[in-house]
Formats: sequence, structure tokens, C-alpha cells
Amino acid sequence: MYYINGEWHESDQKEQITNPATLEVIDTISVCGAEETKVAIAAAKEAFKSWKKTTGDQRSAYLSKTVKLMKARVDELAQIITLENGKPLPDAKREVLGAISYLDWYAEEAKRIYGEVLPASHKDKSLMVIKQPVGVCGAITPWNFPLSMITRKLAPALAAGCTVVLKPAMETPLSAIKVFECFHEAGLPKGVVNLVIGPDAEGIGKELTSSTDVRKLTFTGSTFVGKKLVRDSADTMKKVSMELGGHAPYIVFEDADIDLAVEGVMLSKFKNSGQTCISTNRVYAHKSIAEEFAEKLAKRTAELKIGDGLEEGTDVGPLINKKSLDKMKEQVEDAVKNNAKVVTGGNVYDYEDGDGYFFEPTVILNATDDMVIASEETFGPIAPVFTFESEEEIVEKANNTLYGLAAYCYTKNLGRGLRMMKELEFGIIGINDPAPIVIQAPFGGIKESGMGKEGGKFGLEEYLEEKFVSIYEN
Ligand code: ADP
Repeated sequence: MYYINGEWHESDQKEQITNPATLEVIDTISVCGAEETKVAIAAAKEAFKSWKKTTGDQRSAYLSKTVKLMKARVDELAQIITLENGKPLPDAKREVLGAISYLDWYAEEAKRIYGEVLPASHKDKSLMVIKQPVGVCGAITPWNFPLSMITRKLAPALAAGCTVVLKPAMETPLSAIKVFECFHEAGLPKGVVNLVIGPDAEGIGKELTSSTDVRKLTFTGSTFVGKKLVRDSADTMKKVSMELGGHAPYIVFEDADIDLAVEGVMLSKFKNSGQTCISTNRVYAHKSIAEEFAEKLAKRTAELKIGDGLEEGTDVGPLINKKSLDKMKEQVEDAVKNNAKVVTGGNVYDYEDGDGYFFEPTVILNATDDMVIASEETFGPIAPVFTFESEEEIVEKANNTLYGLAAYCYTKNLGRGLRMMKELEFGIIGINDPAPIVIQAPFGGIKESGMGKEGGKFGLEEYLEEKFVSIYEN
């Protein structure tokens, strides 16, 4: 099923959606491709003519109505997320509530789009800056947060007065269909939101990037694909927002609360099976506490319960697909070949109730810079522990990556925390905080982790153009 110009469409081309925990088919859906994307863009272009003229209050009302409808379907939405993505049900529920909160937040922000009056340098002139929606936006989202990545883009876009063509990941289109059902039920005017679902990501992507009618592209996914999309968007000089990969360092100083730091890794490394762009990728423990820290980390990691996300008590669900599972095996093999020691996990997990893509939560000691895991994004449940001796050394090591999304630091020394805040070259810093993500804050990376921000007032600006008006009072 795909949704264009206010209507659901079926086609002869079908795709099966499978549960990564059991490999059972959850649903078989109609899909589309480049041609339908063209039609969707045209619908969004037509709808923009009137949507851009709506008041903030009107757009706010549509978003609030969607919030209400989604709130009534929290359990159903959470169930779908777990089925198609694999994450434990309580985490899926948290994602749904998070997804709703973006709509809620931007329903309020839609009313607060201000321009400015500037002081003139001529007595007979008036100068002002007005803010207007960018236009038709293409949005491409990943499978790791199949619902909240959609609302994090669509809520500010709609609040700003933009219209949208969304392409969700082929692994997780069912969550997208559900949220579009809510948009439909909320009565959004036809063409304001459009949903194209299909396996030809490249073909759909090409339509979105090459169209002169699409004025902005917002993407969350891999750095590899993000770079291609930026290149392809250059010909039409689109605005772009890119939320790409990361390689987060997690630094535990000798003065840290060790137990707190261990619990932080549980969250930052193993939630969502490590499939989060701000997931910890490199754990650095100060040499003087490394042994104690590693011992506690291995013990807690071994306690995590692996299983189907629908089973009560599951901490770690499956990986999304076989490619991810193979990558885990390769990273561990490479580390072991380079003298790493696996202290817990390290293997494919043989799940008795299904054929899914499970990998054991893993802790590796004696990690070194020449290992693949030291530079390649893991996106899975493996925590390599490196050691360091000085603050100067760790700043250099932590920053020694092409990525710049999130970094974590554990210390009780305020001065050190502030120094790290300034020295770490990442867009998001958690100091004694493994979850530095809130709706009002700017989420986004620097370096090859992308450009642009999502969340809060910062996220809204991405969908607005500033227009300068100079008036001569003759
Ligand atoms: P991952 O490897 O984690 O799946 P991707 O960057 O490949 O990350 O995927 C993120 C999103 O980008 C998905 O919706 C996917 O379908 C889409 N995608 C992948 N390749 C392309 C492409 N060439 N053009 C447009 N979208 C793409």
C-alpha cells in the first residue's frame, strides 16, 4: 500500500515484510517505484499551493488531531514496530510515545514562526525578514526507529507549511502505513503528505533528488547513501538535512562513578541491539580502573536477556537482517585475530523459538586502533574496550574518526567535564548521561555524520526559508 494525493493505492508488485526475530512473514504489501514517486511529487507540489497559505493555528490543529489518533493506537503501533523491527515491546512503546511527542511539540511550534523587523540604515526604509516554508520536501527514513524518524521529519515540515513525499525503509514500512492512516483520518488535505514504498530505493531516491519541484531532502541513514544523496541533490541546489552514521566514543575517567558508567553502556550500547546512530561504538576506560570497569561491564552484559521483542523480559532483540549479523561476526573475528579477548558473548545466538538474526551482547577487551571495529560503525551489540592514560591522549583518540555524531564522557570532575564538552568534536555530548536526546534539543552530527538538526526550534528552521524585504516609503 502506498498513499498519494489523499488516497491509498494497491499495485501488482508485492513485497513480503518479515519479522527479524522469527523470519515469519508479517504482511505482504503493494509497492511502487520511480513513476509513482513522480506522481507523488506532483501531488505535493499542487497541495503546497494552499497548504503554505494555511495559518499556524490551522496546521497546529491537524497535527494535534494526528496526535490524538496516535495516542489511541499506542499499543497497536508498538506491536507493529516490534514485529517489523524486532526491538522489545516496552522500547517500541517508548518509541511510539516519542514519535507522538514530535507531533505534539511541532503542533505548538507551528503557531510560533516569527519574522523580524530590522533596524533600517535609511530613514525612509523599512526592513523585515519573513519566514516561509521551503516547499515540497523529500524524506527518506531508516528502519531502526521506523516511527519516530518519520514524525521527527514530518512534524516540523508540516508545521512550517511544507508538503512531503516520504520513503520509509523497505524493512519497516508498516509503521509508516500506520502513521499515514492517522494523517488520513486527521483529515490532512490531499497531497500534503504522500507515502511511497518500494524496493527500488535508488530509483525513488533519484526522482526525489533530481526533481526541481522538490526543494528539500531530509535523510536519516548511512553516511554512504547520504553522500550520494547530497551529490545528487547538488544539481538542483536543494536544501539538505543529513542524519548519518556515527562512531561514538564512551570515555570513562578514573574519577567516574563506575557503576553508573557500566549502566550507561547497557543503555547506549545494547538498547535497540546497538542499532542506533548515537550508539556507543568505542568504550575507553582509564587504565587505572579498566579492570574493575571491564569486569562489571562483562557481568552486566552477560545478564541481558536475548529474545523475541514480544516476549516479556527481553532486553536485546534481533538484528534487522543477515547483512548486519554477518558484520557482527566479521568484526569479532577481526578483533580476535588482532589479539582481542572476548569476555562475554561473541557468537551468533541460537534462538530456540525462531530463525532470527540474533547476536549475543558482546564485550571485547584489549581493543586496539588497528581493528576494524575501531573505525567501522558497528550498529550492533558489541562493546570493544580500549584503555587510555591521559586526558590529552583520550581527546585525540576520541576525535580520531571521520564521524562526529555523539560522544559520552563519565567523570565527577566538573572542570574536566567542561573541557571535554569543548574538546570533543561531536554534535551531541552526554556527560554522565547515556541518553542525550530530548525533543527540545538539536539532534545532529558534524563531520561525516551529516548536516542539519532535528528537534526543537532548531528542527523547524530546517524547513523554513528567510526572505528579506526592503521597503522604500515613497
Ligand atoms: P542501512 O544500511 O542501515 O539500511 P541505508 O542508508 O542503506 O542504511 O538506508 C536508509 C534509507 O535509505 C532506507 O530508506 C533505504 O531504503 C534508503 N536508501 C538506500 N539506498 C538509497 C539510494 N541509493 N537512494 C535513496 N534512498 C536509499
